Amino acid sequence: MLEVSIIPILNDNYVFIIHNQTQAVVVDPGDPTPVLDFLRSKKLNLVAIFITHHHPDHIGGIASILQNYNAPVYCSLYDKKRIPQATRHLKEGDSLEYLDTTFDVLDIKGHTLGHIAYYSEANHWLFSGDTVFSLGCGRLFEGSHQEMWDSLQKIKNLPKDTLIYFTHEYTLTNLKFCKSLDTQTNWTQIESDLTKKRTDGFPTTPTKLDLELQYNLFLKANTPEDFKIVRQRKDQFNG
Ligand SMILES: [Zn+2]
Repeated sequence: MLEVSIIPILNDNYVFIIHNQTQAVVVDPGDPTPVLDFLRSKKLNLVAIFITHHHPDHIGGIASILQNYNAPVYCSLYDKKRIPQATRHLKEGDSLEYLDTTFDVLDIKGHTLGHIAYYSEANHWLFSGDTVFSLGCGRLFEGSHQEMWDSLQKIKNLPKDTLIYFTHEYTLTNLKFCKSLDTQTNWTQIESDLTKKRTDGFPTTPTKLDLELQYNLFLKANTPEDFKIVRQRKDQFNG
């Protein structure tokens, strides 16, 4: 039985550990200690590290983890020089086989130019790094609005019950922003659900694609121009 464990690290990041009873794949280990503790406590053998993009809060733990486990490290071909610890390089259309599961690689550039996602079609799981958040999307550090728009369309076209494993707990701030920009939508139910999750100490990741299609203003934007306006408003938002 395959499951995804969610490990909070740093200020507001999450690491995902996909595992069965004996083997594990780690996604975006920004901090080694909580990951090593988890692997040891569950007696799991690490078989691969998946990296979505080169930012330090996603790769900071790789070196220490590799001192303890011998596992291949995957990242985009674009990030080959920016992630020297990576041993295998990926582009859209590639797929990986781990834990008896296929993970397809999607190019979702925008937040950075080397940003990729890992998608399990069998489980409807998307590990999408900093591209889409619950009620939000990543800042455009390197890509254009058009590139991010194209990446979001790929995500929108996945099955509606896809679970999106996003890596930052920005959800309640994103909700404030969405409420300020869209006064037509009734936010009562989702606000109550998300606030309860956080009050009870649970992460808001993963989120479901159909929920995001209903509420996420970045995914609801119908044209690249509309998307650009929403992104620019968010860049200026102090919530
Ligand atoms: Zn990032």
